[in-house]
Amino acid sequence: IRIKGDYRYEIGELASTLNYMAQEIVRSNQIKDDFISSISHELRTPLTSIKGWSETLISGGYDPEETKLGMSIISKESDRLIGLVEEILDFSKLQQNEMKLSIGTVGVQELLKEIILNLWAKAEKRSIRLELEAEDGIYVRGDANRLKQVFLNLTDNAVKFSHEGSSVLLSARRVNEEEAEIVVQDSGIGISQEHLNRVKDRFFQVDSLNGGTGLGLAISQQLVELHGGTMEMDSELGKGTRVTVHLQLTEPLPAVEAPDRVSL
Ligand code: ADP
Repeated sequence: IRIKGDYRYEIGELASTLNYMAQEIVRSNQIKDDFISSISHELRTPLTSIKGWSETLISGGYDPEETKLGMSIISKESDRLIGLVEEILDFSKLQQNEMKLSIGTVGVQELLKEIILNLWAKAEKRSIRLELEAEDGIYVRGDANRLKQVFLNLTDNAVKFSHEGSSVLLSARRVNEEEAEIVVQDSGIGISQEHLNRVKDRFFQVDSLNGGTGLGLAISQQLVELHGGTMEMDSELGKGTRVTVHLQLTEPLPAVEAPDRVSL
């Protein structure tokens, strides 16, 4: 049999493709192993605290103040566990294309106000100001709960990696007839160019001591893309970080007029 063409070249190319695929598999297995060990650690911390406090309370002999403190720690740590598990479940739903959105009309100014209210107390503890600069009447098509999750995550990161006494700015504007731009900007520790591409990857954390799963940005990015939008991150080490999200504009819902008289 005569084979036309230079098959040695093709075999060589095939071998290098297979080699590349094998390296990728090793790399992604390594990432998964790292993830499993870091997530196990994240889950164990609240569980240890819950277990410790519940045993302490079961052994009895504590005054009501101490009992209340123990109970409130158990409750707070359970919330943390629920949050972690929900994040893992969301991520796996997104990976398997099983995330369903419940699309409606979302008022951006209201959404950002809600985010600020949610994070106000946390920011205030470190004297970080949360500022809002949003044009009136910007509405986007989207799932209100999922968009809230995205901007809570981005703003929470902005607060977490900001210096005491600095500000975090949330802003929104119309780019054109079709697109809204929402920006979360901080002047915190920033991310080096070397790490910037990797943080958007799942699991990666610049400093694993910060807690968290390293899934937040990957989930946010995929949720924005599921909305047909885009999310970009710019950052400079020591200067701060800016995350820019573009989403489709839509018309506000028509106001429901209150009837003059209700007849039964
Ligand atoms: P996590 O839930 O662990 O914070 P994320 O995916 O939200 O995971 O973030 C991944 C990593 O990206 C963080 O651990 C941090 O190192 C870096 N990062 C994210 N946002 C910022 C920011 N605004 N400023 C500096 N670093 C950030």
